Amino acid sequence: MLKNKVGLVTGASSGIGRAIALVWAREGAKVVVSDINRQAGEETAALVRQQGGDAIFVAADVGKPEDQEALVAQAVAHYGRLDVACNNAGIGGAQAPVADYPLEAWAQVININLSGVFYGMKYQIAAMLKTGGGAIVNIASILGAVGFASSPAYTAAKHGVVGLTQAAALDYGTQGVRINAVGPGFIHTPMIGALEQDAAINAMLVAAHPIGRLGRAEEVAELVAWLASDRASFVTGAYYPVDGGYLAR
Ligand code: NAP
Repeated sequence: MLKNKVGLVTGASSGIGRAIALVWAREGAKVVVSDINRQAGEETAALVRQQGGDAIFVAADVGKPEDQEALVAQAVAHYGRLDVACNNAGIGGAQAPVADYPLEAWAQVININLSGVFYGMKYQIAAMLKTGGGAIVNIASILGAVGFASSPAYTAAKHGVVGLTQAAALDYGTQGVRINAVGPGFIHTPMIGALEQDAAINAMLVAAHPIGRLGRAEEVAELVAWLASDRASFVTGAYYPVDGGYLAR
């Protein structure tokens, strides 16, 4: 499904990003694994190679445009091209109502979760245009469609990712670059580990998903792999929830 394609995944040291790297590699892509966490990122690349795939790790902070530019340059230098990219790196950030939300936490969440996607696409698209096109999948959230109390920065950033995805898709629709967003519900990853450890919060989260449980990272990765592949050739500018029915309520 992704045979002979070169893919780049940010935030691929953990959780959803690691699952995407492994599924993309299983589907035949060569994968550039990127993250700020070098040790765990090298582990992801090693896991890809253990399952017979081809991967390299490149450290990059998605909140720094110069890192994103260097990341794409290294991907192209190593594998010769860039066909698919997933802007997945993100943080949960502080939790507080708007009037109490710390200014520095707002700036940090917007920088990593929203500007990071812009910086990524800016350099990824330029590289893809040189070889005739490609596909980008941006990881938003169900909180790209609805709000969540005490998460103003995260909710705003993820809504921004959905809008940015639509705007970019309009810009490059006729130039062979498809750009879509994915909206996971609550997924078992280290990001929500603290929430899951609180029995009352965990029960509330499970009850919010009509399917009766939280999601697995691999279940998000399957959708991301399809969107990145040529099987989704008529899909661009779209937002796909993968949320166990969360948004159906
Ligand atoms: P995760 O397990 O915490 O993984 C995120 C990875 O991104 C970590 O390896 C993290 O490194 C890395 N990272 C953080 N800041 C970075 C930066 N500035 N540059 C590069 N890498 C950075 O989280 P996840 O649950 O897999 O989340 C992945 C994406 O899915 C995020 O965009 C998140 O918002 C989204 N999402 C998650 C859920 C969920 O319930 N888990 C639901 C909806 C959407 P460190 O660990 O060292 O910080």
